[in-house]
Amino acid sequence: MEYSEKTIEMAQLIAENCTSCKRCMKDCLFLQRYCQDPQKLFQQFLKEDLEPIVPYSCMLCGRCSVVCPLQLKLDEAFLAMRRDLIKEGLPLKELKSVVLHQKLSTSKLFTAVNRGEKK
Ligand code: SF4
Ligand code: SF4
Repeated sequence: MEYSEKTIEMAQLIAENCTSCKRCMKDCLFLQRYCQDPQKLFQQFLKEDLEPIVPYSCMLCGRCSVVCPLQLKLDEAFLAMRRDLIKEGLPLKELKSVVLHQKLSTSKLFTAVNRGEKK
């Protein structure tokens, strides 16, 4: 997977500066589930990439950057990864049935029109 220069730079900033203090992990179930600490996660990203499920599981709530003593912006880095993945057609390529469901469930065929008329 080819990531943009900006995404790589954001990941490098975190991988090089994160002190693994884990303050950001205390209330983040996503980080608790997917990493030992953010430094290792971003080092792994730079070395061998991550499964798309990882950046897509971040809620982008921004709490990590608020509690981080260095204001490292994990959310922005995950969002940048997602933007790059979308340009490559991922992960939608792997989720064709979900795309079909989204298309059908908003199509005229399956959408009732509520005109707001009194009965
Ligand atoms: S933005 Fe993502 S990584 Fe940061 S606290 Fe929220 S869910 Fe966790
Ligand atoms: S709070 Fe900041 S320095 Fe501490 S582990 Fe999280 S990203 Fe790294």
